[in-house]
Amino acid sequence: RIGEADRIVIIGGGISGLSSAFYLQREAERQGKAIHITLVDSAEVLGGKINTLQRDGFVIERGPDSFLSRKLAIIELAKELGIESELTGTNPKGKQSYILFKNKLHAMPQGLVLGIPTEIMPFARTGLLSWGGKLRALLDFVKPARSEAGDESLGGFLGRRLGTQVVQRIAEPLLAGIYAGDLNKLSIQATFPQFAAAERKHGSLIRGMRSNKKLAKAPDMSMLPEGARSSVFLTFKGGLSTLVDALDRALPDMERKLGQAVIGIHDSAAGDEAASFAGMADREQSGSRYTIELANGERLPADKVIVTAPAFQAAELLEPLVDCAELRAIDYVSVANVVMAFDKASLGVTFKGSGFVIPRSEGLRITACTWTSTKWLHTSPGDKVLLRCYVGRAGDQITPFLPDDQLMAAVREDVKKTMNITAAPLFTEITRLPRSMPQYPVGHLGHTKRLRERMAQQVPGIHITGAAFDGVGLPDCIRQGKEIAAAALSSS
Ligand code: FAD
Repeated sequence: RIGEADRIVIIGGGISGLSSAFYLQREAERQGKAIHITLVDSAEVLGGKINTLQRDGFVIERGPDSFLSRKLAIIELAKELGIESELTGTNPKGKQSYILFKNKLHAMPQGLVLGIPTEIMPFARTGLLSWGGKLRALLDFVKPARSEAGDESLGGFLGRRLGTQVVQRIAEPLLAGIYAGDLNKLSIQATFPQFAAAERKHGSLIRGMRSNKKLAKAPDMSMLPEGARSSVFLTFKGGLSTLVDALDRALPDMERKLGQAVIGIHDSAAGDEAASFAGMADREQSGSRYTIELANGERLPADKVIVTAPAFQAAELLEPLVDCAELRAIDYVSVANVVMAFDKASLGVTFKGSGFVIPRSEGLRITACTWTSTKWLHTSPGDKVLLRCYVGRAGDQITPFLPDDQLMAAVREDVKKTMNITAAPLFTEITRLPRSMPQYPVGHLGHTKRLRERMAQQVPGIHITGAAFDGVGLPDCIRQGKEIAAAALSSS
């Protein structure tokens, strides 16, 4: 303890760790509690997956590029940080997105909500599905709801309700942007519980999603800049690092240990004699139950710990203290993205929309392409074009790791096939994100509850959160950071 202050160590300085720190500090101030926060990250900079690059007048995102505006935790945080005026929405003229099918771009049918049709006529007209496929989807109106309670796979659920064509040609490529996963392995309860709830309540997924859409009240966005008020996706004009920088500034008293990996968590109350002996010595010095060991040999006393590292890294740290089978059950998919900048004049192609996604059946290496400069006007100088191509998904874990020249050749080949672009880019930026997309397995919610209960019993004061738990999107990570901050502060 520092005086009477609780020492809290946060492992990981991504959005989960930073928002945990921010809400810890704010709540502690509100409650008049003294705390001392140390945040440790093996990376040299804060932000984790968030990584904005400013280059030659372009704003380039190497990780996430935006967030869903209806998930309010991030907008509330932006307001608390005083950066809401920096928010911006997508280009109103660049909203249409497409799905590639038989090497032709098909406009995403109007009314599609997360791949679920909610308007019948545009769905009936799409060239993405055969008549058989469309009729199969409409069977959803009459097929009885599943009688068993409990979790099932997202792919199993969607296939059962809407048929395999909708899954393979629409839902899977669309949702791949979020999970890059195999829908047959992802938990519906942990990813889109609203789908299962719609079936339960309305006996039909389509009916349920239509009703949700009607009932959904648009949140009050009047405090946002005009261009951001009605946009489904938002970002910051200077890129998502704006949020990281603002959080950094808002935590003046937080101690930072950057470029330092945590290599061990020691518990003075551990059963293991050697560990407990070392832990006891630490405790005698600091009065804190836990000691966090860093790669450089430094040892940080901690009364409470918040672990926000990805599940497989968290398991490495926690396994000596507590069974982490549930963390090991979360697979991660590796992805990479390739950003290409062009001179508009040399491109010979114009885009009407935000980009397209690609079903596996097309046999391409790229899984999606965002027409970044059309979707987000602030990202590029007016005479330039910015494209972002994605590679890697469950079933293709080779492409993200190809050497640069081979990866570029594969991407440029697909860019030529799909958009007939042959111009040489002005520059390219390749970002590999190994094991970056957590795959919530069937049963995930029960698993994480069990893990947390076990941790509360065996390692009280150590809390765990992050994208591996209850939502991978930035707003979900922020909401979870806020929740874990409250839990950590109130735990003894
Ligand atoms: P991370 O950002 O991974 O942070 C964890 C931190 O822990 C890292 O900084 C790491 O260095 C550190 N760490 C790990 N082990 C140790 C250790 N032993 N010691 C010290 N530090 C350690 N979400 C959206 O909302 N919108 C998007 O557009 C979007 N696009 C995405 C695109 C890609 C390519 C990816 C990969 C994700 C995307 N996401 C998006 C999801 C979102 O970016 C992530 O879920 C979120 O950023 C994860 O934040 P986090 O803090 O939980 O984890």
